[in-house]
Amino acid sequence: MATEHGHFINGKRVAGESGRFGDVFNPTTGEKQGKVSLAARAEVTRAIDAAEKAFPAWASTNPQRRARVMFKFKELVEKDMDNLAKLISSEHGKILPDARGDVQRGLDVIEFACGIPHLQKGEYTEAAGPGIDIYSMRQPLGVVAGITPFNFPAMIPMWMFGVAIACGNTFINKPSEKDPSTPLRLAELMMEAGAPEGVLNVVNGDKEAVDAIIEDHRVRAISFVGSSDIAQYIYSNGTANGKRVQCFGGAKNHMIILPDADLESAVNQLIGSAYGSAGERCMATPVAVPVGEGTAEKLIDLLRPKVEGLRIGPSMSEDSDLGPLVTKAHRDRVANYIQMAVDEGQKLVVDGRDFKLQGYENGFFMGGTLLDGAKPGHRSYNEEIFGPVLQVVHAKNFDEAVALPSNHQYGNGVAIFTRNGSAAREFAQRVNVGMVGVNVPIPVPVAYHTFGGWKRSGFGDTNQHGPEGVRFWTKVKTVTQRWPEDVQGSEFVIPTMG
Ligand code: NAD
Repeated sequence: MATEHGHFINGKRVAGESGRFGDVFNPTTGEKQGKVSLAARAEVTRAIDAAEKAFPAWASTNPQRRARVMFKFKELVEKDMDNLAKLISSEHGKILPDARGDVQRGLDVIEFACGIPHLQKGEYTEAAGPGIDIYSMRQPLGVVAGITPFNFPAMIPMWMFGVAIACGNTFINKPSEKDPSTPLRLAELMMEAGAPEGVLNVVNGDKEAVDAIIEDHRVRAISFVGSSDIAQYIYSNGTANGKRVQCFGGAKNHMIILPDADLESAVNQLIGSAYGSAGERCMATPVAVPVGEGTAEKLIDLLRPKVEGLRIGPSMSEDSDLGPLVTKAHRDRVANYIQMAVDEGQKLVVDGRDFKLQGYENGFFMGGTLLDGAKPGHRSYNEEIFGPVLQVVHAKNFDEAVALPSNHQYGNGVAIFTRNGSAAREFAQRVNVGMVGVNVPIPVPVAYHTFGGWKRSGFGDTNQHGPEGVRFWTKVKTVTQRWPEDVQGSEFVIPTMG
């Protein structure tokens, strides 16, 4: 019987009541393996009620006790790693080792959040004026929410609720309806770790649930990760409803390859970052930019056999390079983009559209595709494809190579491969993109730095996790205090504390 996924509200799993459901597939077999409840407004309201009720006690729990819950949670997630990875692989389609990476990258932020007693400290100025001291504190916001995408069902919820809850907020996660099992399991583990009821709630759903979160005045902040049009919608409506909002959107990350780069090494890294997780990563590298015609020719020659040789297998396999795409609809969308690229005049060096995995003919598989000759103005280059497709764009020189990612609508990540330190340094300074890799293909900063793209990859002012995460999930209160012995008279001029 197909599993029915409900919600996690006030410390326990509850069945959905709306009567509306989404399908959950097994991308390897193509079968429908479950259905997920799509919450009605009243169910979202119930989750917000629970989070509101839990907030005062959780916010006033001392920070080392909150940190202890995060420590315990980290231990429990580590113990449950294999189970979580299987849940991810079976619904998302990424291969098991990659699913373990999804969990581990989330755990890195939980480890960061274990340091919250130190991270949330305020500042103090002694004797700022006569008998006056000033101190500031970082207080939690209240009930906050995270709306998360399908492609990292463990990492991104943990990036958000790890920091938010450690700071003393209570949390509503509205995960993707495509792979609901992992966020629900993480909520169970948080309870087991000692988080009080209502501190972490998970509400499955679609636009109706998201609108209910946006419109409830008790939700003080929203963090969103997903595609850019939805990011913009949530940013505009969330801020119009008086909330603090950060929204991270789509991407089209470029890898620039200068003529002096170690080409073999660059190609090996490019293959992993372009096709790993079937290209369904916001920090994947779907665009390669060789500089100079000689570099382009050598690059294509090295890439072709490697793309043809990609090992594609069931998501539960340990030794494949990539598994299937998440749904048939998404697979078809990626195939349409490949056709669009061909119609735009790009050369189809390797065509992965007809790939079928023996024994899994109904799975949502696709082989690796390599396209040469993409250009600004081509729709297939301007838009995000989010599949196992690499487009090569030729640049005549360094300036053209800097301009390509800088002028693209997305600005999530970019990488440059070179042996020339001053070229790399100039590139990192000039390029109009939020995260830069130098001889590193997927420059996802570690947990104690911050993650965030520019332009249509990021709406709002603060990044995720790291110090900016703490700033996003807290507000500053500043106290100016005097304990006078003998203050007399009135002051009518603004105090300058001379
Ligand atoms: P998506 O935008 O379809 O969904 C994201 C979330 O929004 C889900 O929870 C979904 O239920 C909800 N949603 C969908 N339609 C909605 C609507 N009309 N109104 C309100 N909410 C809606 O994204 P996805 O397909 O799940 O994820 C892939 C996208 O996420 C890609 O564009 C990828 O680049 C992006 N992404 C970005 C980052 C980043 O940090 N920039 C990280 C991971 C993924």
